[in-house]
Amino acid sequence: MYKKLLSIILILTTILFTQAWYAIADDDWQIDSGYTELSDAEEIELGKQVDEYIRHQFYMGNDAELIKMVNEITQKLATVSDRKTLPFTCDVIQSHSINAFSAPGRHIYLTEGLLKFTGSEDEVAGIIGHEIAHASLRHVSKLYYEFLEIFSQKNRGTDFDTTLLLLNSQLEEFEQDADTVGVLYAHKAGFDPNGLPDFLERHLDLLINNRIFGLLRFDSFVTINSRINHLREYIPTLVKQE
Ligand SMILES: [Zn+2]
Repeated sequence: MYKKLLSIILILTTILFTQAWYAIADDDWQIDSGYTELSDAEEIELGKQVDEYIRHQFYMGNDAELIKMVNEITQKLATVSDRKTLPFTCDVIQSHSINAFSAPGRHIYLTEGLLKFTGSEDEVAGIIGHEIAHASLRHVSKLYYEFLEIFSQKNRGTDFDTTLLLLNSQLEEFEQDADTVGVLYAHKAGFDPNGLPDFLERHLDLLINNRIFGLLRFDSFVTINSRINHLREYIPTLVKQE
């Protein structure tokens, strides 16, 4: 099961980094039905393998100050998270692209381009909080389950576009859940919970102003917009709960 899960995660990592959805197409997939929830130890082991892959694929940043800063923020957020037992670490990747992602268990990666673009510690905390939330909500285990469903025998006849739509809607749901829980962690750790929607808004402006949207699908715009709107509605209720 490890090998299959690892290949799914590597494909997803590629997707998240390049937005190349077509990378999912792999006729050789063999899925069985042995789904179990991963233990902390299993997730950490799996994360180690993904981390090794990431380190082969990208040059890691070596700015000690920057690495210290992102790890201090990570520890503050991990302390208030629902999986305090995971030893979260945050690495910086040498890339001009603006991106963040995580590997199972404990690894979080931010690009130098993203860190240059962020306007405040609150924004960085919002992004790291989102990644820690993915781990807290056990999205890797759940995604694996979703893949089993989607690629199960009864769905073998489903055409590729429909499969992509199903995956896309599942990923969007995970993104929104990670947003909500991530800003909750940011808030609990003493950061401004508006950091994440502020970042998403500025990133969206950048994409629109540079006409980068020509390269993305139209619904990417809709997705980011709906994430921002969802957070702007949620955050005042969070502050009121106190
Ligand atoms: Zn995410």
